[in-house]
Amino acid sequence: MPPSTLIEENEHKTLREAVAALGNRYGRPYITRVTREHAHPDELWTEAAELGFLGVNLPEEYGGGGAGITELSIVLEELGAAGCPLLMLVVSPAICGTVIARFGTDAQKRRWLPGLADGTRLMAFGITEPDAGSNSHRITTTARRDGADWVLTGRKVFISGVDRADATLIVGRTEDARTGRLKPCLFIVPRDAEGFERRPIDMELKAAERQFELVLDDVRLPADALVGDQDAGLLQLFAGLNPERIMTAAFATGMGRHALARAVEYARDRTVWDTPIGAHQAVAHPLAQSHIELELARLMTQKAARLYDAGDDTGAGEAANMAKYAAAEACAKAVDQAVHTLGGNGLTAEYGLASLVTAARVARIAPVSREMILNYVSHRTLGLPKSY
Ligand SMILES: Cc1cc2nc3c(=O)[nH]c(=O)nc-3n(C[C@H](O)[C@H](O)[C@H](O)COP(=O)(O)OP(=O)(O)OC[C@H]3O[C@@H](n4cnc5c(N)ncnc54)[C@H](O)[C@@H]3O)c2cc1C
Repeated sequence: MPPSTLIEENEHKTLREAVAALGNRYGRPYITRVTREHAHPDELWTEAAELGFLGVNLPEEYGGGGAGITELSIVLEELGAAGCPLLMLVVSPAICGTVIARFGTDAQKRRWLPGLADGTRLMAFGITEPDAGSNSHRITTTARRDGADWVLTGRKVFISGVDRADATLIVGRTEDARTGRLKPCLFIVPRDAEGFERRPIDMELKAAERQFELVLDDVRLPADALVGDQDAGLLQLFAGLNPERIMTAAFATGMGRHALARAVEYARDRTVWDTPIGAHQAVAHPLAQSHIELELARLMTQKAARLYDAGDDTGAGEAANMAKYAAAEACAKAVDQAVHTLGGNGLTAEYGLASLVTAARVARIAPVSREMILNYVSHRTLGLPKSY
């Protein structure tokens, strides 16, 4: 077996090439235009769906591709490398699709998975709360029983794509009948449910997907809004969070590759002395370092995705955290270096790199910040004591 196929099989390479071909037909200018017009990348979304890319990880019997997060992360990375990442891939098929496919009732699977797989339905995911932030154990969105119904009360913040999503998968808590303690549970809240209010947050981020603050004011939901088993909430939640981290790593690696490629192109041509600026090691070496760091991050992402797809949730948890950390750091550095390589042009709208400086920070903060990953590795991997 040649070394290259040792790491990535031919079918994955073929998938990469096919997604890259689609992404390159749209490219960065498409996303820039859509964002400027406050529109959405619907054409790209639809075409990616028709090619089977969006639901590649979802079960075949519900219209998906029957593959895994390995394949979905390839889709996101390649679209990102082409300059047109689809953030909602992280949320809709990766988190929500996975949770419903693994833990949903048959009725929930029939109702949601075919639409999530063919891209005609979209689901957002809401866990972050204003007073909990990184400490998700502190969330207070609560679900109480009222007859057969559930009634949800609480607030969420920074939830992406709620305006576009048919429903949001909300992480709430229910009271354990035996212990009285609150335990996490997942609820499907339709976009227009009474008492479910959203307010867009004015972000500096230039992206088609918007973030929202949500208020759930006695939102009444039918019994089947609860996903899966009330007693397996935490397990279900973690089943969705690992794909989220792996996909964020792919998002960051794609963006980093895109920025790096623009910088390399520029450094090859731009000449202000006798040779192109890329011949100066002060320009070339940081770009080479970025390439190495992005490759390493991609390797860790592949490891995390494979562990996850093989059913090793614990092994995948550690690898997914490390991959997300490495990819976010590599992306932020690659984007920063790319902007610098272009000199003044790095800050022009024409070259479109400066806006990535903000976008690259997202992967450092969400879905879990770099410090929380360092905490995880300190405590779980290295066995160091906790300060909180
Ligand atoms: C563009 C964007 C999209 C998002 N989309 C979604 C979404 O769709 N759904 C969703 O649920 N959430 C979403 N989020 C929210 C995101 O997951 C949170 O912003 C993130 O978890 C951090 O929470 P916080 O912003 O409250 O920061 P805080 O928790 O307030 O943290 C602030 C700072 O303190 C540090 N810190 C906190 N605790 C510790 C500690 N114990 N040790 C060391 N440092 C610490 C953090 O690392 C960070 O640097 C999104 C955020 C952004 C920016």
